[in-house]
Amino acid sequence: MQSNPEKRRDTASRDGEEHRDAERETLMMELTRLVQKSVRESSWWERRGIDCSILTAAFISLPAGFLLLGSSQPLYFLSGVLIMGVVHAVITVKGTHLASHGALSESPVWADFWAVFFIEVCGSFSARAGVQAHVKMHHAHTNVIGLGDSSTWKIPFLPRSVYLFIAPLAVPIITPIVAVGELKGQSPLQILRTVPCVCLGFFSQYYLLRSVSGLSCSSALLVMLLCRAMFSLPYIHVNIFQHIGLPMFSATHRPKRIYQMTHGVLNLPRNPLLDWTFGHSLINCHVEHHLFPFLSDNMCLKVKPLVSQYLKEKKLPYQEDAYISRLSLFFHKYQELMVFAPPITELVGIQ
Ligand SMILES: [Zn+2]
Repeated sequence: MQSNPEKRRDTASRDGEEHRDAERETLMMELTRLVQKSVRESSWWERRGIDCSILTAAFISLPAGFLLLGSSQPLYFLSGVLIMGVVHAVITVKGTHLASHGALSESPVWADFWAVFFIEVCGSFSARAGVQAHVKMHHAHTNVIGLGDSSTWKIPFLPRSVYLFIAPLAVPIITPIVAVGELKGQSPLQILRTVPCVCLGFFSQYYLLRSVSGLSCSSALLVMLLCRAMFSLPYIHVNIFQHIGLPMFSATHRPKRIYQMTHGVLNLPRNPLLDWTFGHSLINCHVEHHLFPFLSDNMCLKVKPLVSQYLKEKKLPYQEDAYISRLSLFFHKYQELMVFAPPITELVGIQ
């Protein structure tokens, strides 16, 4: 039996917790209202047009890339490799990421179409598995141990230099292999869609390299590998730099969304090349993207001042760090970050 003072203490602490919960809900709701107002006041061009134009420009550049790859002049040939690599990154990183969030169209039917086109045809991966892993796990459970803790990118048995600078180059080979593994849990209908879509993307690039660029079989495959691996290093780096090493949360004691995202996500500085190829939501607006994943890259950039100012005013973290600084941290503290279990953030005060 509890004595009366103990009962009063329990009730008071329950009331206090409920009050704090309500306050935290209010913070997220207030910020959401500000962001939604900014979205409503933005034109279609700002909401989707700019990003759709960047993706269209990437597709328009493809013929020049194929023609330059057919040149016997080393400088032209290298320009072709560069164009093909940049275009591949724009389409398969920025395009697949926006498509996985349904950010390319307001119509659900078109959003589904773009997800299949970008993820399966262009990205050689299953759209269902991609959305499940990125949107439903990584975004829903950011930095929650065992769920959205970026553990797929942890290969602790590799030496740090190999993990950071060599293993990422295998991403173009690993991606279709993982995609085949992911087919196991899918319905026959989804398999009948995914396999032809992945083959269509892969073989149409191969066919154009053979017929338009005039490359031999082995040269075409080598060029495909080279172009697909060109941005693999920053792709893996960005994925791990923005989450691993930041506070982690237990699945049973997870904090409110605004605390989870502000403590478990970090922004990198603007970088012209990565802004174009990966998009703002993966580089300098990653915090904004995790708070509002439905926004396009350009809208993430537009609401950035509003979000950062709000978080700073409310004394919430707004984490930013330089690419080189994160690389140096991962290089020097590789064992702690990769091999040992990450420390679970003490939830008192931020739960
Ligand atoms: Zn995302």
